Amino acid sequence: MLELRPNCELCDKDLPPASLEARICSYECTYCADCVEKLANTCPTCGGGFAPRPIRPNAAYRPELKLGLGNHPASDKRRYSKFTAEDIAAHVARIKSIPPEER
Ligand SMILES: [Zn+2]
Ligand SMILES: [Zn+2]
Repeated sequence: MLELRPNCELCDKDLPPASLEARICSYECTYCADCVEKLANTCPTCGGGFAPRPIRPNAAYRPELKLGLGNHPASDKRRYSKFTAEDIAAHVARIKSIPPEER
């Protein structure tokens, strides 16, 4: 199950479960749309591209399956990139010219 992380790892903007600005890489590294643009669609951690984070519904539309945010709430553990701005800039510069599907 996807971990719905509460903030952008770079600028710390709140990204609640219903946010349309949340972007994730395949490892669930989570950033806001503005930071993903600045990162040239390059994850500072894994170097992969990003996609909009799917929105988990509030309601359990199939009660027998116990889904939705009521059963699987968003994480409240805020995360921060461990890399410095300089390091990230070099990493992005190295990778960004390769399309994500060819990385
Ligand atoms: Zn951000
Ligand atoms: Zn990543």
